[in-house]
Amino acid sequence: MAMTSHHQITRRVSRQIRVGRVAVGGGAPVSVQTMTNTDTEDVAATVAQIRAAVKAGADIVRVSVPTLAAAEAFAKIKKEVGYVPLVADIHFNYKCGIAAAEAGADCLRINPGNIGNDRKVSEVVACAKHHGIPIRIGVNAGSLEAELQEKYGEPNADALVESALRHIEILKRHNFEDFKVSLKASEIFLTVFAYRKLATLIDQPLHLGITEAGGQRAGAVKSAIGLGMLLADGIGDTIRVSLAADPVEEVKVGWDILKSLHLRSRGINLVACPSCSRQNFDVIKAVQELEARFDEIDEPLDVAVIGCVVNGPGEAREAAIGVAGGYPNSIYVDGKIQHKAHNAELVDVLEKLVREKIAARQAEKAAAARAESGAETAQP
Ligand code: SF4
Repeated sequence: MAMTSHHQITRRVSRQIRVGRVAVGGGAPVSVQTMTNTDTEDVAATVAQIRAAVKAGADIVRVSVPTLAAAEAFAKIKKEVGYVPLVADIHFNYKCGIAAAEAGADCLRINPGNIGNDRKVSEVVACAKHHGIPIRIGVNAGSLEAELQEKYGEPNADALVESALRHIEILKRHNFEDFKVSLKASEIFLTVFAYRKLATLIDQPLHLGITEAGGQRAGAVKSAIGLGMLLADGIGDTIRVSLAADPVEEVKVGWDILKSLHLRSRGINLVACPSCSRQNFDVIKAVQELEARFDEIDEPLDVAVIGCVVNGPGEAREAAIGVAGGYPNSIYVDGKIQHKAHNAELVDVLEKLVREKIAARQAEKAAAARAESGAETAQP
């Protein structure tokens, strides 16, 4: 099949679960998650970090609840950011899971195999059912059961899948189907093979991630390759990019991965040439300045910033707004040269045009919504 710029990924069909107001699986847009790295008991710092992540585009935020005191803090956090779907990350203490669900968690990340006896599992499952929240099973190569390590000799893909199936089996025995699963490893191929295998065995949604991916640059590259391979296969319903960096960076990289695969769009998509000695304005400086000015824009829009006429007209014509370097620079709007701008004013002119375009689109959308609701009320 010919690959075109309009290639559409066929996504694996999965059941749908809801994490608060966000649907996961069943054809819902692939959601972007991150996790706070503040002390959960520091409510103000955690709330501030959640707000910053949401502003950057996080659909879901995970917060660790290692103690009952953290569960109390979680309740306060949830009151402050009630609109944000929050996943409570629980490890061994099932009581923390129950306390977090009662504190308003929208999902529990807990491995039933780690809870202990069946009575405790029943309590957690009953609590999740009572609150109508799903569970995420999170298998991690770094914490694989000793028995599976021994059986497989190493944490390979089969071992990760078997570990997940054990946890799944426990939930199924308790008639609980509202779960999603992650199978994380820091090795890309191990992770990819494990997800590919599990994707054929269950129909629940999959949460993708490459764990301990690394620092900002190397981690972003590793995540983009690993998650990109799976997402291009149609596998994955929600993603978290793990970076040893600010959660806001995780969210930005997550979005860049989804945007690159045309799975979702958000904010300004800047198409820029790498620049060279032919450039008629400082492309890198202009791109950095525009990125900073457009940081808070959610509306998707393609903007091309190209240094000269070699590739400029072609790219600028394709974008909603584009510049091709020249003396002066030519600015394209909707495929046609509409303005000329000298270097000193270039960034200001581009920003003004982008904001005007977005305002016009928003006005069009509002008018369409008004017309639609008018049509509905007009119906007998
Ligand atoms: S578009 Fe022009 S300035 Fe940009 S890299 Fe190509 S030749 Fe260089």
